Formats: sequence, structure tokens, C-alpha cells
Amino acid sequence: MKDILNAPFLTEMVRTATNMYEHGWDERNGGNLSMLLEEAEVREYLVIPGIVRTIRTGFEAPELDGKIFLVTKTGSYFKNVQHDPAKNLGIVRLANGGREAEILWGFSDGGTVTSEFPAHMMSHLARLAVDPENRVIMHCHPTNLLAMTHVHDLDEKEFTRTLFRMCTECIMVFPDGVSVLPWMVCGTNEIGLATAKKMETARLCVWAMHGVYGAGKTLDETFGLIETAEKAAEIYLKIAHLERKQTITDEQLHLLEARFGVKAREGFLKTGEPDRREDAGMVTVYSSPLCPDCRECKANFDAHGIAYREVDITASMKNLKAFLKYRDALNVFDPCRKNGSVGIPAIVSEDGSVTLDWEGFLKERGLSVVCRENGPVCSLDGKGC
Ligand SMILES: [Zn+2]
Repeated sequence: MKDILNAPFLTEMVRTATNMYEHGWDERNGGNLSMLLEEAEVREYLVIPGIVRTIRTGFEAPELDGKIFLVTKTGSYFKNVQHDPAKNLGIVRLANGGREAEILWGFSDGGTVTSEFPAHMMSHLARLAVDPENRVIMHCHPTNLLAMTHVHDLDEKEFTRTLFRMCTECIMVFPDGVSVLPWMVCGTNEIGLATAKKMETARLCVWAMHGVYGAGKTLDETFGLIETAEKAAEIYLKIAHLERKQTITDEQLHLLEARFGVKAREGFLKTGEPDRREDAGMVTVYSSPLCPDCRECKANFDAHGIAYREVDITASMKNLKAFLKYRDALNVFDPCRKNGSVGIPAIVSEDGSVTLDWEGFLKERGLSVVCRENGPVCSLDGKGC
């Protein structure tokens, strides 16, 4: 029989708890962790059954009967887990329809499972139904995410969009976004059930004015998930009170979806008409890679370091519709409608004004045309796009 203190699942749990403490996510006895173990891996270190004692769980979960979990102790300080794993961690097997937990190892001072055991087990159940590989549930109190729940709308769609806009990687790491629960009394079956319900759609659930629940396949993956959201929340808090010059737009989030093969949770990103508020914060160039004028315009903007948001109107119906909102409504497009040209590149300035004269746009800023490109044009009369 091998020494359980050297078991990879145990050493990794100790390392993760220590890391969480060092990140300031688990002050005092805050936070708790649970990980589903395979019986075969446990058998290398323990005789099963070798029940030390049995405790009542206070809930029923027949689906988890016989399942074995490594879990933190109620009241344990994460800073101390590394110094005494056998006291601060335990291995339990659920029995009797989930109503009992048989302690197989640990909790050496007579302690018991975390007070959030119901929320953990119900969340495991919900995540396992979505993905049988989801083995980890992690609860902690990341400072910035928690702080954000004091000042940000708790609507989970808006909360998620704010996080997505803070760092490019967010939509790749948690495309399902975050779910948000209003403030509730913790340690109860009620919050456990509410969390589990949220876990059906996202791996991250924020508890307002308390902390966060994360789920994942491994401890590293789950830690990284919370770490990424926490980073985005930190950036939000650093800039929330400052004037915003630019941001990651929904258009750009859609580009990330396409590039990295992820899909944001249904309805969480805006589609269709252009967000005038976003256009107001940055120059937008409605264009197409098929149009030589557009390529020339963008090459010159790039050469002069003009920051702009590009909307490729031939990339999607959504982009085309966004452009048509302008083209159908504004007088500046009158000549285009007459001569059969498309009206690109169309430049929407920070103040919402639209021009089709990109060379004039440069001139107004004291800049000249430095790149030229010759090619066919796409108007009916061959004079321009
Ligand atoms: Zn907590």
C-alpha cells in the first residue's frame, strides 16, 4: 500500500489550496474544495471499505451513491492545509442514497466535511450531467469578483459582457459566461440547489457579496477559470471610474468566436444593429476585403496608426445589416444610392458622423495618402465601391 500523502490527487489538492490562499481568495477559514476520485486510484493508497466513521449529510443524492470525494474540512484554514493535510482534508464515500458520508481517511482531529458540502455535491451532480469529466468544484472569495458584485449590475448577461470586454482571453476561457446569484444565506441546501441550477449552464457561478463557485475537469483548469474571471474583474475595477476611450466590442468578440471556435452563451452578445454607443467611442470602418478602396483606406489608416474598429460587411448578414442601417438612413449615401455603388469604405467617427471620403478624413488630421492600390471597383459604373 502506497503512502497516501504522496498520492498525486492529494499533493495537487494541497498545492491548490496553498495557491488559493496565497492569491488572497481564502482568508481565515474561507473557501472549500472537492474533487471526485476514481475508486481504483484510491485503492492504491487505502483499503476500501475502511470506514473510520459515518456522518449524516442532510440531503439526498442517490446518483452520487458510492462516489468518493476528496474534500476540505469545515473550518479549515487554507493556509494550514499544506502543514497538516490529514487534519484539513478528508476522503469520503457517499452512501445510503447520499444521506450519509463514510469517512475513509483524514479529518484526523474529528472534524467533518465543509459546511458547503450540499452546494458542492449538488454542483457535482449538475456538472456531471453536462460533462462526466467535470470532477472539481472550487469555492473561494476572489477579492475583485466579490468587489464587482457591490458596484455592477447583477444581471448575468451584463456581468458577463463586462468581463468579456476586459481581456481578450475571457471568451475563450469561459464562453458560457458567468451565472450570478443574488445574496443568499450560505451553507444551506437552498443555496446549494440554486448554485447547482446555475451550474447546468455555466462553470462559473458568482455569489453576490460572497464569492464564486467554479467547476472543471482538473484542479488546474478550475483554478485557471476563476483566475481569468478574477483578472477581468480586477481590470474592470481599475478602469470603471475612468473615461473609456475604447473597449472590446461585440463585433470583435464575434471575431474571436470565429477564430477560436468558441461560442458565447446564447443571447449574451449583441447581434444585428450597430451599437451607436460603441461607435461613439472609436472610429469604425465599414468595409470589405473584396473592395480595393477599402484595402487602400485601411492600409493608410494602419500606416498612420489610426485605431479603428473594422466591420466587414461581406463577412456576415449581421454586419451587412449593421451597415445598411446607416446606408438606408443617411444623406451622405445619396450619391451611392443613385450611381449604384455600395458606399464603402464608410468611416464612422467617434462623434457618430459618417464620411465616405477617407482621403478627406486623413487631410483633416494633417495626414496624407501614403499607400496606393489599383484594382477593379465594384460599382455599376466602374467608378468606385
Ligand atoms: Zn464562502
